[in-house]
Amino acid sequence: MTRRVLVCGGAGYIGSHMAKWLAAHGVEPVVLDNLSTGHREAVRFGPLVEADLLDPASLDAAFASGPFEAVMHFCARSLVGESVQQPLAYYENNVTGTLNLLQAMQRHGVDRIVFSSTAAVFGEPVSPQIDEDHPKTPINPYGASKLMVERVLADAAQAYGLRSVTLRYFNAAGASADGDIGEAHTPETHLIPNVLRAALGDGSRLRVFGDDWPTPDGTCVRDYIHVDDLAQAHWRALDYMQAHDGAHAFNLGNGRGFSVREVIAAAEAASGRPVPFDIAPRRAGDPAVLVAASDRARQVLGWAPRHTDLAAIIDSAWRWHCDPAF
Ligand code: UDP
Repeated sequence: MTRRVLVCGGAGYIGSHMAKWLAAHGVEPVVLDNLSTGHREAVRFGPLVEADLLDPASLDAAFASGPFEAVMHFCARSLVGESVQQPLAYYENNVTGTLNLLQAMQRHGVDRIVFSSTAAVFGEPVSPQIDEDHPKTPINPYGASKLMVERVLADAAQAYGLRSVTLRYFNAAGASADGDIGEAHTPETHLIPNVLRAALGDGSRLRVFGDDWPTPDGTCVRDYIHVDDLAQAHWRALDYMQAHDGAHAFNLGNGRGFSVREVIAAAEAASGRPVPFDIAPRRAGDPAVLVAASDRARQVLGWAPRHTDLAAIIDSAWRWHCDPAF
């Protein structure tokens, strides 16, 4: 029988890399997406069902193209700054939308989900590296909305036997090696794409959000993780749920932090071009430093990230930005 996974948000950046991974490993990815921020052109590896998490009837239509062995849930509004400005939209989409998805799974007898969560559930770190037991005190509505869903998944495991793996991404970056899919947001708010655009010489100048943070060079520090390594973790989570019930959560990062200034320097090296930038005010909702401890994912899931070098991650993104397919 065909193995099939419902990839919610599969027209987006991380979801499309997941769909590609599944197809390459013999599993049909059926993409559910409302195309609000995703790209029709990124759906290349399986069928697209246009549906909206806020429209339960449309979800029923999507589940009709099953049966699905699991759902992978990448649909979310995910911008920290925007979530501070529009909290209700974030809670509606990320919490209500996920509740609708979980209820649709119940109606259609699907009892496994891999959920995309975020480092933003932790808030300001109290230790240099963040493991799964770190206190969870989000400082922005985006992180809070994801933490609420984590709680829902834990309760649903107890009550209904729903199996779940929550993967908390640190900063997703990079693009597929063959250049067919990559990161394309409109407007683009993420650091690496904005750095590379400035390097391309499209007339934009990078705005560095604050150089007065309590970090070695005054700019924020993040842990950048290649999008294909995130896909690999989802793949291992699927395996894990075959043998384990309950709700489980893992942090995914490389365990090394890079400042905004270090990312700029790495992008200048990868592109061979200068990155024009200005120092701008701090962005609301940003913590100073976010670096993962991912030992649990390595030990329990057998996850082994392959693209751990920042230069290589930026190089894959640079190749995409020089010749984007959409
Ligand atoms: N950042 C920046 N200029 C930009 C975009 C991002 O200085 O144009 C900073 C941002 O303040 C944060 C880091 O780069 O410290 C990573 O931001 P991004 O939006 O890529 O990811 P996030 O950490 O919000 O998930």
